Amino acid sequence: MRHSSTITVAVLVGLVAVVAPLWISIELSWREAIANESSLSLSYGQDVLRRAEETSHQIRDGIALINSAHNKPCSTDELALMRKVDVGSSYIQAVGRMEGNVILCSSVEGSSRILLGSPTVITESSAEERLNVMLPLADHPLEVFSLQGVAFILDPTLALDVPTEGPDISITIFVPSSKNHIIFASRGIHPHPGWYRNITKGSSLTFRDDGYIVTITRAKDIDIAVITTAPESYVINHVNHFARIFIPLGLFFAGLLVWAVTHVSRIRLSLPSVLQGAAKRKEFFVEYQPIVELATGRWIGAEALVRWQRSGRIVRPDYFIPIAEESGVITEITACVIEIVAADLPALLKTSPDFLVAINLSANDLRSAKTVEMLKCLLKRGFIQPVNIKVEATERGFLQGVDTRDILASIRELGIEIAIDDFGTGYSSLSCLQTLGLDALKIDKSFVDTIETDGATSNVVSHIISMAHSLNLIMVAEGVETEAQAQFLKKGGVPFAQGWFYAKPMSFPKLCEGCAIYGVIKDQDVSSRPN
Ligand code: C2E
Ligand code: CA
Ligand code: CA
Repeated sequence: MRHSSTITVAVLVGLVAVVAPLWISIELSWREAIANESSLSLSYGQDVLRRAEETSHQIRDGIALINSAHNKPCSTDELALMRKVDVGSSYIQAVGRMEGNVILCSSVEGSSRILLGSPTVITESSAEERLNVMLPLADHPLEVFSLQGVAFILDPTLALDVPTEGPDISITIFVPSSKNHIIFASRGIHPHPGWYRNITKGSSLTFRDDGYIVTITRAKDIDIAVITTAPESYVINHVNHFARIFIPLGLFFAGLLVWAVTHVSRIRLSLPSVLQGAAKRKEFFVEYQPIVELATGRWIGAEALVRWQRSGRIVRPDYFIPIAEESGVITEITACVIEIVAADLPALLKTSPDFLVAINLSANDLRSAKTVEMLKCLLKRGFIQPVNIKVEATERGFLQGVDTRDILASIRELGIEIAIDDFGTGYSSLSCLQTLGLDALKIDKSFVDTIETDGATSNVVSHIISMAHSLNLIMVAEGVETEAQAQFLKKGGVPFAQGWFYAKPMSFPKLCEGCAIYGVIKDQDVSSRPN
């Protein structure tokens, strides 16, 4: 990624950092407001049901009291009991003796026979309910509930008399088991037909529809349910309340995120100049990882792997190489590596004149004529011959632009061999490999890892090996960690390997010590090697 794209990403991430917490805080405020309104509606429904259940218990006790006395119907004693039940309940308006469709007498002083129409509903327990009954002396319709000869005159408006947060809250009490949802009492708007949802006894349900928050609550013991509706505009009042809590929190997190993004971007954007300074201060050094001839175990060469000594800590290349490539500082790091190899290698060549060092080149190096110049200078140092140097470049490096071709050709003209690194991890085609004029192929560690496993890519190694054979490419397997992997590669005809099974990257003096032992003798017992 280039500098400008890093800035673009930082700006985008910054924008997200501002927008996301604010959006989340608004969303949270809205959700909390809806939840709050829903629970308010639920509490209205529960309040209505509580009153209905209380009345139902009073009715049940009233029937038991009146009928267990076995008084003569409408006798003075029975009327006294009826008055007792009437007075004991705020919801029961009057109690009477019922026969057929007639109230024979009632707790109301001086009442006479009242002829009623046939029942509106007969419940499962044979109770009769007559709704909207206009009784003498009443100024609005009442309800008559009768069971076992006892009638109860109820005022449904009392059940609806629930204190609510505003006048637009509608409440409807209905019989859930009835087919056409018989309504006992209703206040405010009538529910839409689709709002009569079938829910189990004792449960509740909330949903939003047509600009309303709708809650249904069904009683546990009696056949009654309540629909409460609140206009969604009520939610806005709650949103304002929650927004006052969440938006400052959102702003705080937005600020925190923007600070973090700015901080990280500043570090990232300043890293190239830090790397440049490090190159000048010679903070880079090289470790060498031996390349082993599989047939003999002999160390025939080593790969130069750069390290960065920063304030007493060693920084691994995986961290800084991508940033160095992005910013172009990599060419200065490559110059450092070539410089170090030039200084180190002659001492080793005195004893091992065929030893080779592989140097990693990045995409930028393959586009710069300076690389060819640096390699030319390297070949003039000490005893260094073209056979002692090899360059490695990743598939990505080769594929970035056509201009790499000329540089590759010039490097080969110097007599230096070129290997394709991390082969298989990019997208280069076979034809591309053929036209580039490569000499070697490094089998990536990720494929070596799959040897003798059941993974989907486990047979890719065999394909890479046969392809390299057919293209006449020398193979080096990297990241070999086990004896089994080494044996597999050896059997497959891979001549060279690198990996912790043989040796980890090491300092130049350690490499020289190792070469004195393993660089000359053949058929080593590799298991006894130091790491
Ligand atoms: P690479 O070129 O594929 O180097 C091989 C990496 O695998 C090295 O990591 C090496 O230490 C590690 N390795 C080798 N054998 C084993 C093994 O058996 N097990 C495990 N787990 N790892 C093993 P390192 O040194 O961290 O280098 C990482 C990458 O950084 C290199 O991958 C290369 O792409 C880049 N790099 C290193 N030095 C240079 C350099 O001088 N110039 C450029 N352009 N890139 C470099
Ligand atoms: Ca490499
Ligand atoms: Ca690799």
